[in-house]
Amino acid sequence: MDKHIVIIGSGFAAYQLVKSLRKLNAETPITVITGDNGDDYSKPDISHVFSKQQTANDLVKQTASEFASANNILLINNTRVDAIDTKSKTIHYGSQSLVYSELVLATGASAFVPGFAGNATDEIVTLNSLVEYQGQQDKLARAKSVLVLGAGLIGTEIAMDLASSGKQVTLCDKAANLMPTLLPPFISASLYQAMVEKGINIQLNRTVTSINRHHQQLVISLADEQHIESDVVIAAMGLMPNTQLAQQANIRVNRGIVVDRMMQTSAPSVFALGDCAELDGKVRAFIQPAMLCAMALAKTLMGTPNPVHLPASLIKAKTPWLPLHLSGDTTSENATWEVTNEPDGLIAKAFDKETANLIGFVVSHDQMKAAFPLLRLLPAE
Ligand SMILES: Cc1cc2nc3c(=O)[nH]c(=O)nc-3n(C[C@H](O)[C@H](O)[C@H](O)COP(=O)(O)OP(=O)(O)OC[C@H]3O[C@@H](n4cnc5c(N)ncnc54)[C@H](O)[C@@H]3O)c2cc1C
Repeated sequence: MDKHIVIIGSGFAAYQLVKSLRKLNAETPITVITGDNGDDYSKPDISHVFSKQQTANDLVKQTASEFASANNILLINNTRVDAIDTKSKTIHYGSQSLVYSELVLATGASAFVPGFAGNATDEIVTLNSLVEYQGQQDKLARAKSVLVLGAGLIGTEIAMDLASSGKQVTLCDKAANLMPTLLPPFISASLYQAMVEKGINIQLNRTVTSINRHHQQLVISLADEQHIESDVVIAAMGLMPNTQLAQQANIRVNRGIVVDRMMQTSAPSVFALGDCAELDGKVRAFIQPAMLCAMALAKTLMGTPNPVHLPASLIKAKTPWLPLHLSGDTTSENATWEVTNEPDGLIAKAFDKETANLIGFVVSHDQMKAAFPLLRLLPAE
């Protein structure tokens, strides 16, 4: 069979792979098939569209056809793949099909929205893609008040950005702290204070039960029988990797599509990367690991098997009222924290109680310069 690499998806992971492949080889036939329109954009930019007053079009770096011609690929857009047949190495979409020599699943993840009660659950907004923002941008621009459900990294960033743009913002989570899976409680507390001082209404330890429309307002009911009124509700409550295609094709799936260090799935010649992939039991829904995986996979696909090596990666919280950079295990119950407060920010280091090894850190403001030497001391992932 002639070499023909087929990639499903046109997000960061897919396009990073295309660019890495083209650096190695200009000619090998590559087809990208994607459910959206294939425009190239940076998803993290969605976290500051409100303060920058940007529309979805402003985020497009290259249109689909510009990307396709710049990278010499065939791009089939606005087309969802329905099925994969790993025996005949064929993907099916509508009434058509395509044969691959190697297939890469870069299908991303979907925003998780729990099944709330109420008559307005279909009005819940999610902002996990350019298409989702595009569909809601006018409503969001008009809204005076916004309730953000989920105080993880994305929800907190979006809440801060909405408030910066002058909207009345409520941030609500059933957790007791902001960004509970990334920050130790003492840093969450500083972030809480910074946000409350700027007028954000933060409701922690709160469980939403229903969302109903009453005339112009959405009424969000909480388990403690309180109610919050808002023009718009945004859910940033976590992600579910898009694994359905793999599952239907009997490719091994756990939380994500299970891959080894070659990004190889359980099916021969089928690979996965980005938010849909699970490596060593972890789904890493971040840019840096996706980039490193794409670079490694490109070499493998071009004939030089290359296991991915993932050094500890830096997470940057786009929270300008308290800018934070962090890495490693920053929420371990087994950690002892050493905290230095300097005029230009804090440096907080987490050490394992038993081994005394550095296991994670958080730095704020201008202490970014301290992050890189610390990063080198952390174990690879
Ligand atoms: C608001 C926001 C801010 C963020 N900020 C940061 C940050 O600061 N730093 C960071 O590291 N990460 C950040 N992230 C996460 C990061 O953006 C993602 O990890 C990354 O963009 C995921 O890329 P992906 O290609 O795996 O998935 P996606 O971008 O979701 O792409 C998936 C693609 O698959 C296609 N697809 C799915 N199923 C099918 C099908 N059946 N047939 C055809 N096509 C299909 C979709 O159409 C889409 O093109 C942020 C995320 C959000 C939402």
